[in-house]
Amino acid sequence: MENLERLAIHSITTKPWDLQTAVMKYKDAGVRGISIWKEAYEALGAKKAGQLAHSAGLDVVSLIRGGFFVHPVKEEREVRIARNLSMIHEAAELGAPHIVLVCGAHPNVRIEEARRQVAEGISEILPAAERERIKLAIEPLHPMYAADRSVINTLSEALDLCDYFESSHVGIVVDVYHTWWDPELHVQIERAGRGNRIFAFHVCDWKTPLEDMLEDRGLMGEGNIDIPSIRKTVEKAGFSGFVEVEIFSRRYWALDQDIWLGMIVDSYRKSV
Ligand code: ZN
Repeated sequence: MENLERLAIHSITTKPWDLQTAVMKYKDAGVRGISIWKEAYEALGAKKAGQLAHSAGLDVVSLIRGGFFVHPVKEEREVRIARNLSMIHEAAELGAPHIVLVCGAHPNVRIEEARRQVAEGISEILPAAERERIKLAIEPLHPMYAADRSVINTLSEALDLCDYFESSHVGIVVDVYHTWWDPELHVQIERAGRGNRIFAFHVCDWKTPLEDMLEDRGLMGEGNIDIPSIRKTVEKAGFSGFVEVEIFSRRYWALDQDIWLGMIVDSYRKSV
């Protein structure tokens, strides 16, 4: 039986709840951390949202999500860089140590050019991130998203970017949903550990059939990801942060969210 000391939940996981409700309910359930999505803190403002979480005794684990650097039009890319720069400031106000980067992709931008735009985007925002002491956590996304969400699809590519920037402020997210299939998964986690580059660890499960690429993630234990073995490698690599439950699911958002939260806590104890 796993205790809840390391359990954090992404606000999007209980999307029907506003931030105030989520914070109160997580706290009552014994959850220790919250990762706050931009959409969830906007109504309150980052500063108040951070205070709300901290006064309930929750750690703010991550701000989610920045990035989306890829676009065919230069002016639009500049808008996105400006948005990331404001998010760095908001992360500081929230008290979040890092921003998760979904790096970006676009159906009208060839993949090599898209990868170049990602590197360019990160280099544009890195000086501000270092100044504000906010880390940038590159999250490789499953390759099914390579045309529209992220051209960074493996831990190896994400770590190559880290090598390129050589900054203690650039690291990675290991999300089991995006990386479980990768034959190099364990080797690359070990590589990340050698450079202290694991900033975050996200869990959910991969169900079959997948009815929607975005909003049909499984609850831990209902799919085929060997979460305990991935967690073991991540921790052996030196990561001692939160285990963050991140589940977008229309099926689960349709449930009574109190029941859903109970299911999450239960499956965390049993299957993570
Ligand atoms: Zn994730």
